[in-house]
Amino acid sequence: MKRAAIYARYSSDLQTDRSIEDQVSLCSDFAAKQGLAIVAEFDDRARSGASIMGRDGVLAMMDAARDGKFDVLVVEALDRLSRDQEDLAGIYKRLTHIGVEIRAVHDGKADIVQVGIRGLVGALYLQDLAHKVRRGMAGVVRDGRNAGGKAYGYAPVPGKPGELVIVEEEAEVVRRIFADYAAGKSPREIAGDLNAENVAPPRGAFWQASTINGNRKRANGMLQNPIYDGRIVWNRVRMVKDPDTGKRISRVNPQSEWQEEDAPHLRIVLADIFAQVNGRKVRATSDKPMKKNARILSGLLKCGACGAGMSIKDKMGRVTRIMCTKAKEARSCHNTRPYVLDDIEATVVDGLRSRLDDPKLLEFYVECYNDEHKKLYAGQGVSREKARQRLAAAEREYQRILQLAIKGVISEEEAAEQLPPLREEKKRLTDELAVIPEPPKVVTLKPALVARYLRSLEELDAAVKSGGMLSLDVRRCVRDLVTSVTVFPSSAGERPVLKVDGYLSSLVDEGLSHRFAVRGGTMVAEEGFEPPTQGL
Ligand SMILES: [Zn+2]
Repeated sequence: MKRAAIYARYSSDLQTDRSIEDQVSLCSDFAAKQGLAIVAEFDDRARSGASIMGRDGVLAMMDAARDGKFDVLVVEALDRLSRDQEDLAGIYKRLTHIGVEIRAVHDGKADIVQVGIRGLVGALYLQDLAHKVRRGMAGVVRDGRNAGGKAYGYAPVPGKPGELVIVEEEAEVVRRIFADYAAGKSPREIAGDLNAENVAPPRGAFWQASTINGNRKRANGMLQNPIYDGRIVWNRVRMVKDPDTGKRISRVNPQSEWQEEDAPHLRIVLADIFAQVNGRKVRATSDKPMKKNARILSGLLKCGACGAGMSIKDKMGRVTRIMCTKAKEARSCHNTRPYVLDDIEATVVDGLRSRLDDPKLLEFYVECYNDEHKKLYAGQGVSREKARQRLAAAEREYQRILQLAIKGVISEEEAAEQLPPLREEKKRLTDELAVIPEPPKVVTLKPALVARYLRSLEELDAAVKSGGMLSLDVRRCVRDLVTSVTVFPSSAGERPVLKVDGYLSSLVDEGLSHRFAVRGGTMVAEEGFEPPTQGL
C-alpha cells in the first residue's frame, strides 16, 4: 500500500481554522478511496499562498519527502501547494525527482501540463466555484448542521441557516413510528393509524406508507433517515436535468461518495431500535420495476378512508375492480366498496385533460405555487441580501486594489499582500451565500410542455377507451403528473370522489423541488374538477 501525506493550507487569517480540517477530511476520504495509507499531515495556517517563504508546513513536507517518508502527496487542489506558478513548478519538479507523486482531490494526478495550467489558474485565481461550494457545504455537515432539506421532527434555528433543533411533539411521533414498525406493524398500518388520529403529516394531506418506508435504494423514507440516529448524511443525491422535460430530478450518488457526520444532538430514536428497524427493513423491501402491462395507476391508488393502497379485488371478463387493501384483507376499513378500475382511470385522464386544457386553472396553480414559495422563503431573504451586499463590497474593494496595482499606484508587493485576504473573504462569503436558500423563482408555464402532456393524455384517453396498449411516453406522462389518486368512500350507485395529487413542476419552466409540488384538487367522476385546493 502506498504511503500518503496530506498537505493543507489556509491562505489568510480572515478565516477560521475549520477550512484546514475540511481540506484534511476531503483529502482523507480521497486517499481512502484511492487505497492510500495516510502516514503524515502537514499544514500552513493563516499564511498567504503567494510565496513559499515562511511556510513551515510545506518545507517540513518537502523534508519528509526527501527522507522518503511517503510516496504520494494528497492536496485538495494544486493551488493549495502554492499559488505561485514558479513555486508550484519547483515543488512539482523536486517531488517528481524524489519519486513522490502529487494527487489533488479536484485535479487528479498532477502532471506537468496540469501544474502549468493550475499554477496559471492559481495566479489568476479563477476559482472552481462548484468545488468551493461543495467544500463549504461539507463544512456545514461536519459541524453537525444540516446541508439538505429539513426532516420531520426538526425545525430550523432562526438566523442560523443550516442548523436544526428537535421539535419534541414531532419527535414523539417519530419514536412511535419506529416503535410500531419494530413491533411488526406495516408502514401502511402505521400511516393509517396516524391518519385516524389526525396527526399532521410532514407534507400532503395524509400520512402515506411511502413517507414512512420510502424507497430502499434512495433510502428516503423516515425509517431509513440517519438523522433520527444522530447522523447526517450528505451528498446522497445530486440534481440533474432531464433533457426531455427540462425538469430537475434527483439521482442517487454511489454510496462511496456519501459523506456522513455524527450529530448526536439530533438523535431522536434509540440506536438499537434504529438498527433493528433498518436490519429488518433491508429484507422487507424490494424495488419492483413497473411491470410491462401494469395499469397506468398501479401503485398510485390510495384509499381515502384509511390511507392504505388499493388492490385488485376481482376480474369479471374485462372489468377489473379494485378495493381498499385494508378493507379487503383485514376488514379494518369502512371503505368496503369495490370500484371499477376503468372508470377511475378514465376519470383521472379526463380530469387531467380538462385541467391542462384550461389555461385559467393552470395559471391559478402557478399563482398558488409562487405565493406559497414566497411565504416559505420569507425571512431568509434578509440574511441572503446581507451576505450578497458584503460579497459585493469585498468584490469592489478587491477590484479597487487591483486597479491601483495595475495603474502602478501601489507596488506589486503591496498588492500581493492586500489581495489574498480579500480573495479569501470573497470566497468565504460565496460559500456562505451558497448555503442560504435561493430566492423563490417566479415560475411560468411552458406551453410546449403543456401541449406535450395534452397530446399524451389524448393518446392515453384513446387507449383507455379501446383497451389498447400504452406507449412508454404516455405512461411516463401520467406518472410525471400524478403522484397519487385517492379514492374516497361512496355508497354503491354514487360516483366515487377522487383526489389527484400531482406535480405542477412537470409543466413549468424551471426545476422545482418536488417537495414544493402543488397538490391537486378534488375531482368527482364525470363532473369535472372542483376548485383546486392549494397547499404543499
Ligand atoms: Zn381503506
